[in-house]
Amino acid sequence: MTAGHLAQSSSLAGVIVRCMECSADFPGDRALTGCPACGGLLDVVTPLSAIDRALFGTGLTGAMAHSGVWRYWPLLPAIPREAVVSRWEGNTPLYEDARLADYAGMNGEVRIKHEGHNPTASFKDRGMTVGVSHAKAIGARIVACASTGNTSASLASYASSGGLASLVLIPDTKVSMGKLAQTVAYGSTVVQVAGDFDAALAVLRELTAAYDVYLVNSVNPFRLEGQKTIIIEAMEQYAWNPPDYIVLPGGNLGNTSAFGKALIELVEIGLIPRAPKLVVVQAEGASPFAKWFRNGYRDYAPMHADTVATAIKIGNPASIPRAKRAVDFTGGIVTSVSDEEILDAKAEIDRIGIGCEPASAASLAGLRQLVAAGQIPASASAVCVLTGHVLKDTDAVSDYHFSDRDGHPRPGANRPIRVEPTLAALERTLADALHG
Ligand SMILES: *Cc1c(COP(=O)(O)O)cnc(C)c1O
Ligand SMILES: [Zn+2]
Repeated sequence: MTAGHLAQSSSLAGVIVRCMECSADFPGDRALTGCPACGGLLDVVTPLSAIDRALFGTGLTGAMAHSGVWRYWPLLPAIPREAVVSRWEGNTPLYEDARLADYAGMNGEVRIKHEGHNPTASFKDRGMTVGVSHAKAIGARIVACASTGNTSASLASYASSGGLASLVLIPDTKVSMGKLAQTVAYGSTVVQVAGDFDAALAVLRELTAAYDVYLVNSVNPFRLEGQKTIIIEAMEQYAWNPPDYIVLPGGNLGNTSAFGKALIELVEIGLIPRAPKLVVVQAEGASPFAKWFRNGYRDYAPMHADTVATAIKIGNPASIPRAKRAVDFTGGIVTSVSDEEILDAKAEIDRIGIGCEPASAASLAGLRQLVAAGQIPASASAVCVLTGHVLKDTDAVSDYHFSDRDGHPRPGANRPIRVEPTLAALERTLADALHG
């Protein structure tokens, strides 16, 4: 799986990628998305012996000096600085709100790491700054992905920022208008393939094998390096005293893999005393990893995916071996929640003024479920990662608030009220609020 004819840059000579299956090493100066020897998943090798946290944020200029990703350059691949495309990504808030702990049934501290505060409003930007910079460093002219969602929005933005052409293949199935709007507006060439996501990815792989087109799909190991900084930044915000649990939604499981790699590295270099347990939450209708975990890792079976949380609607996650490594390293848990649980948790996160897209709320829904089941103690501390912004999927908001579930408004449904244009009508409607 290599577009070996892409120009190879000697300035990336020190960067090595390693196969997690056969441990073979390969130079990081080419576009590899799988091991050329065995097809296994690749990791970028981080030279841990030389890492000094005093170097974080030092010596950077231009946009990199403002980036919450490149700030952690000692733990990232050594991409030549002139190739780096940064949009000041990262630097996301770590909120604390007692109402979220209440909702989860906990008296321990619950915090929210809000990745919707990235330039294109999802965590994908953290990976894309590294992926697109790597593409640029090796001389790629066109970067491409098959996606209906946040990956394409992020790719389009970073490619255009860096002066590269981008190509997005979208399937024929339902796409989020918000995410497609970003992709179109940021200037990607968008091609709709008459088929599903797998068909779009398959034909794109044929294209990247034959032409100088750099594939930024979810197994790209450089993207995962950028996504590690969600964890590194959060741990720094916790003053390197980690909470007991880190809870995140799982789709293709790239983020789970990146979190695991970050935790392994932070423990190894002694920046945190122990790894928090990773809790991966899938949507019930797209939960092959959760089923496999519950089954003691026996009989893995992909499934036909169906969930309202489109960002995690993945039936056969590309990064499953890496995700298993991450969960096992931390003694973590994998679970799944229903679409109703996701939407109710989302409504709670939205109502307190924070907001997120549906997939993101799987984290809080999963935490609540595991506390109720006694698998996580109520006194524990946890951070839920919100992966995307509330405006990514406004259809989900209007469906929740303006239409019924089983003939009744959903919990906390908030419907606009229509009145005649008179003060009297307004006073009648607002009587409780005005006099209460
Ligand atoms: C991509 C994405 C996910 C899923 O991440 P994976 O790495 O595929 O597991 C979850 N939420 C949002 C908003 C996303 O964009
Ligand atoms: Zn291999």
